Amino acid sequence: MSPKAPITQDVMTIPRKLPEGKVNLVGLTRDQLRAALIEHGTPEKQAKMRTGQIWQWIYQWGVRDFAQMTNLAKAYRAQLAEHFVIEIPEVVTRQVSEDGTRKYLCRIAGGHEVEVVYIPEEDRGTLCISSQVGCTLTCSFCHTGTQKLVRNLTAAEIVGQVMMARDDLEEWPTPGAPKDETRLLSNIVLMGMGEPLYNFDNVRDAMKIAMDPEGISLSRRRITLSTSGVVPEIARTAEEIGCLLAISFHATTDETRDVLVPINKRWNIEELLQALASYPNASNSERITFEYVMLDGVNDSDADAHRLIEHIKRHNIPAKINLIPFNEWPGAPYKRSSNNRIRAFANIIYQAGYASPIRKTRGEDIMAACGQLKSATERARKSRKQIESEAGLG
Ligand code: SAH
Ligand code: SF4
Repeated sequence: MSPKAPITQDVMTIPRKLPEGKVNLVGLTRDQLRAALIEHGTPEKQAKMRTGQIWQWIYQWGVRDFAQMTNLAKAYRAQLAEHFVIEIPEVVTRQVSEDGTRKYLCRIAGGHEVEVVYIPEEDRGTLCISSQVGCTLTCSFCHTGTQKLVRNLTAAEIVGQVMMARDDLEEWPTPGAPKDETRLLSNIVLMGMGEPLYNFDNVRDAMKIAMDPEGISLSRRRITLSTSGVVPEIARTAEEIGCLLAISFHATTDETRDVLVPINKRWNIEELLQALASYPNASNSERITFEYVMLDGVNDSDADAHRLIEHIKRHNIPAKINLIPFNEWPGAPYKRSSNNRIRAFANIIYQAGYASPIRKTRGEDIMAACGQLKSATERARKSRKQIESEAGLG
């Protein structure tokens, strides 16, 4: 990665063009793309071939302009441009942390904003993408959960986040150039804003596009979907997406989990564990990640660590436990467990035979860490309200 000056904030104000009545080709499945081409004048006999060609231009080469699709006849390119656009979310701001983490704020239709985080590591580069604006769930330790505004992202907006990051990383290959195997963007985690399993179809379609070998071409093993525990959709995730699974577990008794992850009141720990035990892809090479946020005095006792292991063992789930030091946000009702406590907790799990990595906190200086994401418009609105109340106007 080219070295960037630390902590920059580029504000880009690219005006959004929304050509009337045109169809965005981004986010369409291959079948949908084919149908759209036929509907707008592509002869049925040619449609399959044209779908493949256009698909490659969009997802393999990152082309956004039909005029550049040089293996298509000029007249056909003009015809495409009349009916279609190739559009992805617009980057509003980009911040680069001291540690190289990049946080993007993207604007989507309706003026909503979502955050996307890129985390470079030695052997990989992970993009943390969002599936919803805000979240309908209200986990008590999560900043996104306090955001009122919610809408599902479209498949275009979800895969568009990946395309946006490839733009920024300048990672699109040029036609004719040799294939570069060392990817800056090698992994995707659905751990940004929103509950991906409450937006199942769009997440599935977007991830299918990201995995398609004729395009972005990421292996299903390099995509991890994190859910708070939407039990009925867990089996579908294996069948229809096939990616790895992470679970926001966070507590070892229903009493505590009801408070931390309120979806537990709908599907409790036992029901969740049963769904995980029968996750079709789970194996030693494809373990399920248990995410566990370390909250001081709430869920971080030795007894919790032992109970956690007991739950996993009882159901014989191939698992690794990812301990996440709580990322504090303004007004958060919890504190991060001490490093000693986190290490002691990790050790109990490790002694029981499970990997227990402690997640390194990245991008703290730009509030890019897990669970800190919340759109800037929302923050601005809040602070305006605060200012008003402080001034006695609210
Ligand atoms: N909605 C999904 C995915 C997004 S959250 C889910 O809940 O799984 C990604 C991860 O960050 C989840 O494990 C979530 O519980 C965790 N998280 C949320 N807020 C956090 C915070 N303030 N500090 C640390 N982790 C947090
Ligand atoms: Fe939503 Fe996940 Fe945050 Fe819970 S932890 S409020 S499910 S984004």
